[in-house]
Amino acid sequence: MSEIISERPTNEQQATRARAVIPGGVNSPVRAFGSVGGTPLSIVSATGATVTDIEGRTYVDLVASWGPALLGHAHPEVVAAVQQAAARGLSFGASTPGEAELAERVIDRLTVDGTAALERVRLVSTGTEATMTAIRLARGATGRDLVIKFAGHYHGHSDGLLAESGSGVATLGLPGSAGVPAPIAAQTLVLAYNDLSAVEAAFAAHPDRIAAVIVEAAGANSGVLRPQPGFNRALSRLTAANGALLIVDEVLTGFRVGPAGWWGLEADGTISEGAGWTPDIVTFGKVIGGGMPLAALGGRAEVLELLAPLGPVYQAGTLSGNPLAVAAGLATLRLSDAEVYRRVDASADTVATLLHDSLEDAGVAHVIPRAGSLFSLAFRDEPVRDYADAKAQDAWRYPPFFHAMREAGVSLPPSVFEAWFLTAAHDDAALERIADALPGAARAAAA
Ligand code: PLP
Repeated sequence: MSEIISERPTNEQQATRARAVIPGGVNSPVRAFGSVGGTPLSIVSATGATVTDIEGRTYVDLVASWGPALLGHAHPEVVAAVQQAAARGLSFGASTPGEAELAERVIDRLTVDGTAALERVRLVSTGTEATMTAIRLARGATGRDLVIKFAGHYHGHSDGLLAESGSGVATLGLPGSAGVPAPIAAQTLVLAYNDLSAVEAAFAAHPDRIAAVIVEAAGANSGVLRPQPGFNRALSRLTAANGALLIVDEVLTGFRVGPAGWWGLEADGTISEGAGWTPDIVTFGKVIGGGMPLAALGGRAEVLELLAPLGPVYQAGTLSGNPLAVAAGLATLRLSDAEVYRRVDASADTVATLLHDSLEDAGVAHVIPRAGSLFSLAFRDEPVRDYADAKAQDAWRYPPFFHAMREAGVSLPPSVFEAWFLTAAHDDAALERIADALPGAARAAAA
């Protein structure tokens, strides 16, 4: 018999209840707090820069739903757009005017100096679907099987993209998950990030067999791993020279680090030494759906039109282009103007500086890898260039740090290998709460 839940259950009671019916009590593993321990928060509402748990405690939130909440939670105009869309019907399984408008907006956003990086956009529901479809498309376009990905980069949970090499360079990937057949994992070559010679060697070792290189535009899934200057451009050159496609995964960075994502920062010269390249396929998620299940992939017409119904590469979805998700995405993109990006960048500067100062005062070795408004914390002295570096840190310092922040009313990502997410709703009051919490957490990390 299930436990009787009192009117306002605790997080612990709620987690116990969930564990009885949901594997691990969660619908996405990191929510279980495995690497920090303690009881996962059960969130009942969120507004602006804060989330409120089932016990009624409100936290300043630095998770932002893992990225989507660029404007802050429950922005009134986004909520109103969804409500209005809902009143017209939840899902039609047919084309809608909004989805074409969203595709137009995405193409406009990725137009820099009059040159559009994308000509066609297909909407899907999750980042996993977007990258999975991008890989299939690249294979369909090239007639080749192998895919290069980088260790520590995350592209969702499709079979081939879970492959990850612990040893780095030019090795065939082993299954990163039980249930992935070895022959499928063997189609993915896992290389060390930021290592161009490894990419060159892989192309030399497998002539005419590599369909695509997939790369996070800026790595942010094993902590932040910033691309070395010119790395993405060099990938573009190498893929083109070898008849492969470059898939740039902007599921996390897209519309978050700038109006045209990380690619936009390189293309418009914000990041020096980056300009002068165009991805073959770009994947989007998170911010594009403003908190609703929506993702996308885009590219040149000749590539994207290989998708069914025009071409032989199949992809479909009952809820693809869902009108509520499209309404949330359109409102989010409309509202995320230059001032939003300026605010998010400034708040990231403030929090990263406060974090550094607190850890410095507490005498804790650390670096704060940064890519635009995204940053993370690594307990080590040396810069973090790739996944091996990210793993070589005093990760055991993070749980006490995390729990001290939580006690002080700040909700951090429950893993040291995740980026911290600011929003445009992080106002002075939110930043002050973070400033007040950090010194104690830094001392906890020092212990
Ligand atoms: N690609 C990147 C870069 C991501 O960060 C993520 C999710 O965190 C994904 C793909 C997968 O997206 P989703 O969780 O929507 O399937």
